[in-house]
Amino acid sequence: MQVPAYVEYEKATSVGHALALLARFGPEARILAGGHSLIPMMKLRLVQPETLIDINGLSELSYIDVAGGELRIGALTRHAELLDSAVAGERFAILHDAERVIADPVVRNWGTIGGSLCQADPSEDLSGTFAALKASMIIRGPGGSRTVPAREFHTGPYETVVAPGEMLTEISIVIRPGCGSAYEKVGRRVGDWPIAAAAAAVWLNGAGGPGAGGPGGPGGVRIAEAGLGLTAVGARNFAAAEAEEFLRGAPAGEETFAEAGRIAAENCNPVSDQRGPADYKRHLASELTVRALRRAVRRAATPRGTR
Ligand SMILES: Cc1cc2nc3c(=O)[nH]c(=O)nc-3n(C[C@H](O)[C@H](O)[C@H](O)COP(=O)(O)OP(=O)(O)OC[C@H]3O[C@@H](n4cnc5c(N)ncnc54)[C@H](O)[C@@H]3O)c2cc1C
Repeated sequence: MQVPAYVEYEKATSVGHALALLARFGPEARILAGGHSLIPMMKLRLVQPETLIDINGLSELSYIDVAGGELRIGALTRHAELLDSAVAGERFAILHDAERVIADPVVRNWGTIGGSLCQADPSEDLSGTFAALKASMIIRGPGGSRTVPAREFHTGPYETVVAPGEMLTEISIVIRPGCGSAYEKVGRRVGDWPIAAAAAAVWLNGAGGPGAGGPGGPGGVRIAEAGLGLTAVGARNFAAAEAEEFLRGAPAGEETFAEAGRIAAENCNPVSDQRGPADYKRHLASELTVRALRRAVRRAATPRGTR
């Protein structure tokens, strides 16, 4: 039987209280959100915190709303809540794509968005998703709040910029017109972590305009800007920056998608493991980038509500 080591337990009643508890118990304290990652790691004695600070009662960290031109997601929002959120899916369909393939209903019902990001597993589906959306992470500590781009949030496997005494409180995404987004994942079986996955967000020039002719059509719809994320293939910052650069101003068609996929695959660094050999993962990085781009462009070119 796997049993965690002895640990103290504190229940936070507000974000301020959680921060005070983090300050009081020091770097050996850990925040407990859904516990889906932390508790198994404690059972395996991979981590042995001295104190758990339970934030599950903090309703002030559980919300999804639109304010100030941004979609804001509280760190304690459960996966299932994001999957159910009409406002999130309508603005960024990629969030529903990704949530639909994360784990199973049991994990999604209690696992949190903040916990997933702070766990910083290299195979975490939301890391590539938020990298593609160029989201921002709001972190609170004793000195107040600071905002960090999603692409600077992870500093390595299982490491983030959240310092002892701080906590992640919110993820925000700027809403700009003309966005389409999509997530494509291949796993070994339903509910498993990805072998590889790709995330795409695109903003089009000329979509639906006079003579546009649809994506890749003769009217010449072009990609004004793109965000590309890659998960589980050793991409720097979970992003495919070189492919994004190539996409800026390119025609929104199959040749462009194929070249972006090729560039994305060339610039990632997958390793062979129990999920598959590196060359297979590199192939997936290319193919899934193409599929995600194709779907994102189609969504960007289609009026909201009919996607
Ligand atoms: C069977 C299973 C299958 C899974 N499959 C997938 C999958 O397919 N794809 C995928 O992406 N994920 C998958 N997961 C991971 C799952 O989504 C995450 O484990 C889970 O959601 C983590 O969130 P949590 O709320 O449970 O975090 P916890 O386990 O409570 O915490 C994780 C870490 O984050 C820290 N933390 C939590 N919240 C904060 C905060 N607000 N500020 C600072 N630090 C914080 C904790 O201290 C801890 O170090 C799977 C998990 C399981 C158990």
